[in-house]
Amino acid sequence: MLSLSNPHDLIGFLTEKRKSGSRIGFVPTMGALHKGHISLVERAKKECDFVVVSVFVNPTQFGPNEDFNKYPRSIEADSQMLVAAGSDMLFLPNVSDIYPDAQPEISITIAGMDKILEGKTRPGHFNGVLLVLARLFNILGPCKTYLGLKDFQQVAVVKKMVQELFFPVEIVPCPTLREADGLAMSSRNRYLNEEERQQALFLFNALRLAKREYAEGKPTSEIQNEVKVLAENYPLIKLDYIEIVESSTLLPVEILTNSKNPVALIAAWCGTTRLIDNIPLIP
Ligand code: AMP
Repeated sequence: MLSLSNPHDLIGFLTEKRKSGSRIGFVPTMGALHKGHISLVERAKKECDFVVVSVFVNPTQFGPNEDFNKYPRSIEADSQMLVAAGSDMLFLPNVSDIYPDAQPEISITIAGMDKILEGKTRPGHFNGVLLVLARLFNILGPCKTYLGLKDFQQVAVVKKMVQELFFPVEIVPCPTLREADGLAMSSRNRYLNEEERQQALFLFNALRLAKREYAEGKPTSEIQNEVKVLAENYPLIKLDYIEIVESSTLLPVEILTNSKNPVALIAAWCGTTRLIDNIPLIP
């Protein structure tokens, strides 16, 4: 696997690759890789000729009291997993490579969608995500970009940016990989101690409850109440939100008949670790 850290080197390299007819696949990550990330790399490998994986813990998407400094970093293990998955290029920039301008003067906002759900609890988070992806997309050039539906709102927000700003990028949403008991794989699962790991199952259990009740025609508010009641059985859990929204707009859905493609989204703290997950309500 090749490795580069300088954006201009990667731009030059990929320009040549494209001239020789290669279709570029891109998987942006923050490292601390697990099988969920690897499933994106494997999909990219099947559909593209040359796959670039970036590992970059993006400071601008973390709030001041969030876990940027302690975010897990494990580049040796990551590289080995990427080689095994068939990644062709590791892009491993430093913060100053992506942000040479310590105080960026251009920001990207998205009206509405960045103020709800994750954006409500994590103000500025999606501005950071869009800022880094806009830069990465311009470095990568025309490509297919593989994003995990585990971060459902992120996929919606990024798709909007790509569409409205004419980035020459095709977004490929990919399904969430789970542990055997249903917990969505996440780099942040590494923070959980044994007891928290058990209780983290609350998220998937709550989503399954929501799905069952939605199929029975229960209104959203009732489902939300039942999830709150369920949370009482998990003393280490603090529910942030459980919302049922239409997947394309992220607007709230009240009852089944109103929605073509409803999805339940959940966020909760498990001890001091914030976890998110989601489930489509109609298979
Ligand atoms: P991250 O390193 O957490 O920024 O994630 C990098 C990419 O991997 C994002 O597109 C995530 O949505 C995706 N991802 C994270 N967890 C999973 C998972 N369990 N299954 C599939 N994709 C995932």
